Amino acid sequence: PERQLKEGAIVSRFAPSPTGRVHMGNLFASFVPEVFARQTDGVFILRIEDTDAKRAIENGIELILDDLKNYNYKIDENPIDGGNYGPYIQTERKEIYDAFAKYLVSIGRAYPCFCSEEDLTNMRSEQEAKKERIGYYGKYAKCRNLTYEEVKAHLDNGDKYVIRLRSQGDFNKKIIFKDLIKGTIELPENDLDQVIIKSDGIPPYAFAHVVDDHLMRVTHVTRDDSYISSVPYHMELWEAFNFKKPKFAHLLPLCIKDGETIRKISKRKDPEAAVSFYHERGIPKEAIKLYFATLLNSNFEEWYLQNQDKSYRDFTFTFNKMSKSGPLFDLDKLLNISRNYISRLTKDEVYDDLLTWSNTYDKDFYDLIIKYKENTKNILNIERQQKKPRKDYSSYSDIKDQVFYMYDE
Ligand code: GLU
Repeated sequence: PERQLKEGAIVSRFAPSPTGRVHMGNLFASFVPEVFARQTDGVFILRIEDTDAKRAIENGIELILDDLKNYNYKIDENPIDGGNYGPYIQTERKEIYDAFAKYLVSIGRAYPCFCSEEDLTNMRSEQEAKKERIGYYGKYAKCRNLTYEEVKAHLDNGDKYVIRLRSQGDFNKKIIFKDLIKGTIELPENDLDQVIIKSDGIPPYAFAHVVDDHLMRVTHVTRDDSYISSVPYHMELWEAFNFKKPKFAHLLPLCIKDGETIRKISKRKDPEAAVSFYHERGIPKEAIKLYFATLLNSNFEEWYLQNQDKSYRDFTFTFNKMSKSGPLFDLDKLLNISRNYISRLTKDEVYDDLLTWSNTYDKDFYDLIIKYKENTKNILNIERQQKKPRKDYSSYSDIKDQVFYMYDE
């Protein structure tokens, strides 16, 4: 059913593969749709895209959900707490995809393809030799013209098959669409007869997400900009079903300066890509989100300077104030935001946060501040709650070094 939401409400989703703990890149990528859903009284969905079984890890879903909840992202519908538009795990939606694929077959927009690996390799070699575009299209799409009898004979024979879209696109024509961040985009139409159901009965991501975004009544697709070149194909699917298309916002990945070059932040190469890097140092989660807010909208920082007592939730974010080049992740800037954030907390708030942090990361210090609770609070109160509070703690791990000499032991 349509969702009964007020005018302008955004239904957004974060749709990761269950490949493990979130890293800074996906923490930011999920911050964006969450913020837009919240500020419009919409709905934020966590959907798990596990049709590529090779990438899934055990507990992958719990880990992702835990990480997002830990940052106080409010997730209205997700695989564990449920919701009315589920299941929220793609491999549990197989019957749904079957029904939608079957519908496309019934209207002549999809067909079974019995080509073997060898047929496809031969096709590719021929295309390479003739310097033609690689892919299953036009005259190369052998199975698109099989007769009913031929198809039946293959099926009766128990031959393996996939289901392919019967594309009506023309590669020499362009489609034009609007991306909320990048503006108007022009790309060649899709003319590939892409696989919509694999031989194991599972759809690839592209088909699954079109069906899901439609049924979950997603209004805004925010995702990595590496998907932008696939939009013409997705558009063709939306049109084949006659679904109302969502709006797109392709997010630029968080980037990092590496010597002279700027590149995408990498889980493998950059320690600061791991969320644990910040937890160990005791950088408050709220400071990280404030930093994300500055990356999300260029005018946030100025607003925040005037409204330091407010939360980022009080700011009205817009897609058109998002950077058109990859936001540059700057640790010094984050530490600076964190320093300001900690300076504005009360002594009780800092004490409580310090307790939580040290309980996990510095047991000796934890014992000490439990034993000298009032003293610690007094120490933490030095030059706090005044017009120009001290700003020398950028994280909870900074505090011990600066205060330990004030204790007797
Ligand atoms: N499952 C995709 C990924 O992990 C997300 C694609 C989407 O959001 O549409 O990158």
